[in-house]
Amino acid sequence: MRPGSLPTLERRGTVRGTYFVQTWGCQMNEEDSEQIGLYLQDLGFVPAQTPREAHIVLLNTCSVRKKPEDKAFSFLGELREIKQSRPEMVVGVAGCMAQLRADEIKRRNPFVDFVVGTAQIASIPGLVEEALQTRKFAKRIDLPPRTGAIVTDIPQRNLERGGKLKAFVPIQYGCDKFCSFCIVPTTRGRERSRPTEHIVEEVRRLAELGTKEVTLLGQTVNSYGKNLAEGRVPFSSLLRLLAGIPGIERLRYVSPYPRDFKTDVIEAIREVPEVMEHCHMPLQAGDDGLLKRMKRLYTVDSFGDIVSDLRKSMPDIGLTTDIIVGFPGETDTEFQATLSAMERFRFDGAYMFKYSPRPGTPAAEMEQVSREVSEARLKELMRVQDKITLEKNEEQIGREFEVLVDGPSRRDPTRLQGYTRCFRMMHFEGDAGLKGQLVILRATEPHHWGLSGESI
Ligand code: SAH
Repeated sequence: MRPGSLPTLERRGTVRGTYFVQTWGCQMNEEDSEQIGLYLQDLGFVPAQTPREAHIVLLNTCSVRKKPEDKAFSFLGELREIKQSRPEMVVGVAGCMAQLRADEIKRRNPFVDFVVGTAQIASIPGLVEEALQTRKFAKRIDLPPRTGAIVTDIPQRNLERGGKLKAFVPIQYGCDKFCSFCIVPTTRGRERSRPTEHIVEEVRRLAELGTKEVTLLGQTVNSYGKNLAEGRVPFSSLLRLLAGIPGIERLRYVSPYPRDFKTDVIEAIREVPEVMEHCHMPLQAGDDGLLKRMKRLYTVDSFGDIVSDLRKSMPDIGLTTDIIVGFPGETDTEFQATLSAMERFRFDGAYMFKYSPRPGTPAAEMEQVSREVSEARLKELMRVQDKITLEKNEEQIGREFEVLVDGPSRRDPTRLQGYTRCFRMMHFEGDAGLKGQLVILRATEPHHWGLSGESI
């Protein structure tokens, strides 16, 4: 067999070749990529270190801002060269950009073998086999419609992903909120929840295979449970159900939507030991006019009420957020209001983005803020928030935290890293054998990224 060529018949137990999955974007994409990897392993492929040597290369793309789209196109440019010397390499493009720009991807990169949308990742094994055998281009981008009926189109998931200390589990796909800046409802379709029993079964299996921490994923996780065959299942009930699964020590979720944040979730965080005292709740902007133009369906004060209720119940809860600057028409006064909101809420951390026009969304048609102004505002916002983050970390010095040990630190491999229950990263000296254990540490030093700590 020529080096790089592939056997076409599947032989169970034998390795047919290698694969490489390149991922951009959110945790949902990370998780989809993990599933894609499992599908490819089932077909007899093993992971490759780089795309250069892989027989099958998959791009799992992101469209939430322009930058990840540019990166995917430039990656395709690199693959074009590899493909010239190794024409048998199979290239597939998945994810949000595949959903939106399938024809353009193929036109600009004729060597691409298939394009597969966000709701079709389960068809990837079939597409790979087809590509290996026929080399005919395939496009699979249907999004499931949802007209209020019970959802039956949830993709089959591979549950045999063992040995992960921390795992992501999608509970809901798509989004019904239609914020004026956001492309997600177009790329991921309408909101649909996974049946509760499927989620419970998946988490139970993960726990049996060694998972201790589960992060539930969805665009607006706290609206989970609409249109299920079993009737409405509130998000708080799902949390309580999953917390009862033996072996699960910690439960987290991203992201709740502020308007849907009700007291039952606050009670679940307070009462259920497994539910972590951390909440990532995107504010997006600190001005009511801006929020209205963003179509966010809440006000700064109603957001503030949730923050107060959370902190009243759990004074040490970690709160993080997302902010967009340079949204169309953002005035200096409105931007100043966002800065004030950051001082008012004193988040423990924030992801801060420059607005990126997404073709087809209402905000892309509005009057844009110049790049210079947006960049200056982003810098200012980051300066303000970084100071708050450091101050919040300083406040933790001397206090004790339960930390789930991830293993060696990525910043300094001679030390260990893990997260507190309020989702602060902690570094400390310890034996590598502590990986996967819950330890109690005292915070000794603040950093912009978290805390240094010591065993007590
Ligand atoms: N469903 C979540 C958002 C998920 S997208 C919610 O409703 O809050 C993750 C983050 O990307 C968003 O919170 C927002 O801050 C940012 N984002 C989304 N669209 C964007 C755009 N067009 N430009 C810049 N940032 C954007």
